[in-house]
Amino acid sequence: MHDDIAEILFTEDEIAQRVGEIGRAITRDYADVADEGIVLVSVLRGAAIFMADLARVIDLPLEMDYMAVSSYGSGTKSSGVIRILKDLSTNIEGRHVIVAEDILDSGLTLEYLLKNLSERHPASLRVATFLRKQTQPQAEIDCTYLGFECPDSFIVGYGLDYAEHYRNLPYVGVLKPEVYR
Ligand code: 5GP
Ligand code: MG
Ligand code: MG
Repeated sequence: MHDDIAEILFTEDEIAQRVGEIGRAITRDYADVADEGIVLVSVLRGAAIFMADLARVIDLPLEMDYMAVSSYGSGTKSSGVIRILKDLSTNIEGRHVIVAEDILDSGLTLEYLLKNLSERHPASLRVATFLRKQTQPQAEIDCTYLGFECPDSFIVGYGLDYAEHYRNLPYVGVLKPEVYR
C-alpha cells in the first residue's frame, strides 16, 4: 500500500467484480436498442479509468466521448462553479447516452451536466457513477448504475486524484489528511 494512503476501501479485485456487474446490467438494459448503440460520456479526468474498464465489459455497439469540466482545482471541496473546458465531439441528439462519473460528492457537477446534456435531446440519459459519497447535503441525482457508496473522506485511486497524483493506484483508498492539510 502507498505510504500516503490511510486505508484501502475497495481492492482491485472488488472493483473489477463490481464494474463487471455494472457492464452486464447495462448490456441487458440496452439490449432492445442494441442496433442504435449507446454513447458513453466520461467526465475527464477522474472517470477515464472507470469508463475504460466499463466499456470493455459492455457487450453492445458503443461510442466513447469525453467532456472536461472545472469544479475542483487542486483543493478538496467543490466550488459549485462549473465550467465546460472541453465539450463532446458527438452530436447526442436522439442517442442513448450514459454519463460515467468517478464520484458524486455535492452532486453539483452532475446536476449541471445532466441539465446541459438533456437540453441536447438525447433519446435517453442515464448516470453510471463509480462512487457515491455519503455527503450531506447532496443534490438528488438518479444514479441508475452505482459502483459503491463510500464515506465522506477524501478518496484517491482508480482515476481519482489529489493535485493530479494517485490516479494510477489500482485500488481506491482514503488519503491521509496530513497529505493535503
Ligand atoms: P461534486 O460536484 O459532486 O461535489 O464533485 C464532483 C467532482 O469532485 C468529482 O467528479 C471529483 O472530480 C471531485 N471529487 C469529489 N470528491 C472527491 C474525492 O473524495 N476525491 C477526489 N479525488 N475527487 C473528488
Ligand atoms: Mg469527476
Ligand atoms: Mg480531481
